[in-house]
Amino acid sequence: MKTEKVLVEGIVQGVGFRPFVYRIATELELSGYVRNLGNVVEIVIQGSDDKIADFIYKLQNELPPIAKINNLETENLEDEEEYADFTIKESSDSFSGTSVIPPDLAICDKCLEEINDPNNRRYNYPFNACTDCGPRFTVIENVPYDRDKTTLDDFPLCDECEVEYKNPLDRRYHAEASCCEVCGPSLELYKNDNQNPVKIDSEDPLKDTA
Ligand SMILES: [Zn+2]
Ligand SMILES: [Zn+2]
Repeated sequence: MKTEKVLVEGIVQGVGFRPFVYRIATELELSGYVRNLGNVVEIVIQGSDDKIADFIYKLQNELPPIAKINNLETENLEDEEEYADFTIKESSDSFSGTSVIPPDLAICDKCLEEINDPNNRRYNYPFNACTDCGPRFTVIENVPYDRDKTTLDDFPLCDECEVEYKNPLDRRYHAEASCCEVCGPSLELYKNDNQNPVKIDSEDPLKDTA
């Protein structure tokens, strides 16, 4: 049993990096944790030498599409407590320095499918997003990248969105910009009546505007 600390710098926040780390760690049956530390991501990983080596390899070679590692440091930890499983820990902002804030990302195929599916609860919902797509730069107010440090903080997750957000196997696991028609921002159409906004009834404000 060995414990290794890995510090990762780069585009590693807001791009599904923590869920990705969680996935590969649990696939390899490694324990420990991952968390955002200001500008870096800290991973503590515990298991056999072989599996830790596999983990470091996957970490660098199977990254989510937008993520990019600029620097990776590992350090062997002696006398570390034993971890029962692998978890995503609360962020800590005790680390300062420069952060790489990811750009907004064009909608992914899966989110687009949902918008076009009349049976999906996000049918026609214009602000659909997940860990692979959606706003980042636009909504981030501070780092580490967590929902309470984005403009989405004004839109608490509804029950259904919260279930997705907390399920490690869901693609919206820790998707900080996730929302839906029930809990997220909405579009409304107004006309200007002598400087007074008057709401216009519209099923599809985007289409009507176009
Ligand atoms: Zn998406
Ligand atoms: Zn919701």
